[in-house]
Amino acid sequence: MPDPVPRLKLEHITRSFAGRTVVDDVSLEVMPGEVTCLLGPSGCGKSTTLRIVAGVEMQDSGCIWVDGELICDTVLRVPPERRSIGLMFQDFALFPHLSVAENVAFGLTGSKADKRARVEELLDRVDMLRLIDAFPHELSGGEQQRVALARAIAPRPSIMLMDEPFSGLDNRLRDGIRDETLSVLKEEGTAVLLVTHEPEEAMRMADRIALMRNGHIVQQGAPYNVFNAPADKEAAAFFSDIN
Ligand code: ADP
Ligand code: MG
Repeated sequence: MPDPVPRLKLEHITRSFAGRTVVDDVSLEVMPGEVTCLLGPSGCGKSTTLRIVAGVEMQDSGCIWVDGELICDTVLRVPPERRSIGLMFQDFALFPHLSVAENVAFGLTGSKADKRARVEELLDRVDMLRLIDAFPHELSGGEQQRVALARAIAPRPSIMLMDEPFSGLDNRLRDGIRDETLSVLKEEGTAVLLVTHEPEEAMRMADRIALMRNGHIVQQGAPYNVFNAPADKEAAAFFSDIN
């Protein structure tokens, strides 16, 4: 059997600001149904990489493919809304003037009945059906997070980009919401590129970890392998506070 086509593929993505290289020759893949974690300390270039994939920032060089189709190089540039990408960012809030149902339906096309069915299916999956007519200000942080997840996956994006989506939640809730999120993503079969600076989160959620430092990917592999055989002393130190 031929290898499956990656949902997302980055090749040699580079970006500088004012002469400083912030994303340095980043290449990675996210396979169907898998969570790839872009893991590294604050300031290493993770969010810039995601913004380039989302199409709200432009790379200086390198190429991006979604489902085997070139969506961006230095000549071609498919606009963000046509990239089949779902977004979940910490500060990417729900629309405050729309109900839960309207928030989830926002990116959907098709008949009213089809949209309603998809909204109900997803709200059921994130255990929020009973709050379908509520407004965001009536929800807890964790509940808002679940609605944001439903909204992001509703249009069945080829790839979901998540930038530290759990860092605004308090510790008590975070583990539970991570696990719930992961099980919803797995059930739906959504491929994910998840950005985090927390090794523990990467170990918990990733099928594959890409370890980033100073704009560069220093190591990639299964979580167990990256944790047990870090590429160098700095990588080992980065993982040393979890056990
Ligand atoms: P991370 O998400 O890993 O914390 P970022 O990608 O947000 O890192 O930022 C990496 C570096 O790039 C930081 O030093 C940041 O200040 C810089 N940077 C990001 N965006 C811009 C920009 N638009 N202009 C100038 N510098 C930027
Ligand atoms: Mg960031």
